[in-house]
Amino acid sequence: MEAIKNKKEVLLSVRDLEVTFGSKRNPFKAVKGVNFDIYKGETFGLVGESGSGKTTIGRAIMRIHPTSDGTITYKGERINGKISPELDKRVISEIQMIFQDPFGSLDPRQKAFSIIKEVLVEANTYHGTEEVKRKVNELLVKVGLSEEMGERYPHEMSGGQRQRLGIARALACDPKIIICDEPVSALDVSIQAQIINLFKELQREMGLTYIFVAHDLAVVRHIADVIAVMYLGRIMEMMEAVELYKNPLHPYSQALLSAIPIVDYYEEQKRERILLKGEVPSPIHAPSGCPFHPRCPYASDQCRKVPPELKNVGNGHYVACYYVEEKLN
Ligand code: SF4
Repeated sequence: MEAIKNKKEVLLSVRDLEVTFGSKRNPFKAVKGVNFDIYKGETFGLVGESGSGKTTIGRAIMRIHPTSDGTITYKGERINGKISPELDKRVISEIQMIFQDPFGSLDPRQKAFSIIKEVLVEANTYHGTEEVKRKVNELLVKVGLSEEMGERYPHEMSGGQRQRLGIARALACDPKIIICDEPVSALDVSIQAQIINLFKELQREMGLTYIFVAHDLAVVRHIADVIAVMYLGRIMEMMEAVELYKNPLHPYSQALLSAIPIVDYYEEQKRERILLKGEVPSPIHAPSGCPFHPRCPYASDQCRKVPPELKNVGNGHYVACYYVEEKLN
């Protein structure tokens, strides 16, 4: 696949990825033929409603969900399917995940200090009580918590503080990629901005690469460099984030963007909202052809029969839509 921009080093590549769920008799594909590259130090936004496959892709990269076809390559080595124990160990520490609800992934019986310490002891990269203690306190401060906070249990912290603790725990592994799965969706808007700023600061300081999974385009707007818009297991549109907000081409992306409120009152009054008919169908009963066709105002017979390919329409702007192809030709 042609790079979105001729730049930097590709850290992670996904090619023709498929993830299948369900039983042997009734299988269904949650991810279908997905391709993308992620560059070092960049934030890749994966956006879509429930059932779009965005979280499944994150979990396939983490090796939580097995893949049924395609390849995931990290630093040039294939990491899906059967891999060596050494590579598995490296992937586990270098690719970390942060969850929407850190409560569910933090041991409620342990204090913050012990939660981070456990990761450091397991990784065996810091030795001796003093060295480990210094590193835990450094991580607490790095994510905006104080050393004193180390004495608190997760239930004694606010939602934002717990998310900071989840980030500190992920950083303890010295990761290269962090998959952020809706990390701010459960937080108040003011706290969301603080956590997004923390992600950006850490990226600048540590050269981290993020995969940022979100259900709406408003959240990723402030952090993503590249965005892939997903619908029922397929990428519908993918491009540099600035380009998407300026010039969305796919009817689904246009509808998603039109739902984001604009701060300027007069601009907000002027702009047109695109209301989509119906709901996202279940991935178990995904429509034939273009999965978006039952809700698309431009759907043709061709759309109902054959899914459109994701094509580069110029400057690394990829779109899967017959209507857009026709309009641009
Ligand atoms: Fe709509 Fe057809 Fe484009 Fe799908 S391919 S988004 S149904 S016009």
